[in-house]
Amino acid sequence: MGEDLARRRIDADRAEFMRYGVKCPFDGTLVGPRFVTREHLDVPPDPPYAATVRCPSDKELFEVIFTG
Ligand SMILES: [Zn+2]
Repeated sequence: MGEDLARRRIDADRAEFMRYGVKCPFDGTLVGPRFVTREHLDVPPDPPYAATVRCPSDKELFEVIFTG
């Protein structure tokens, strides 16, 4: 359970995410802003700090934590 949760949280550079350069941790599909289901605006430093993404290929949900 804990491992599954960890797998569902990945760190990514915001600019890389914006240009679809971030891979789904489950199947490696490249994801970006179009696949965001929810942005997390409530955590510093700069909103949005993180986003919930649904992979278009395997439909897995995961959190992308923006590191820069
Ligand atoms: Zn995937």
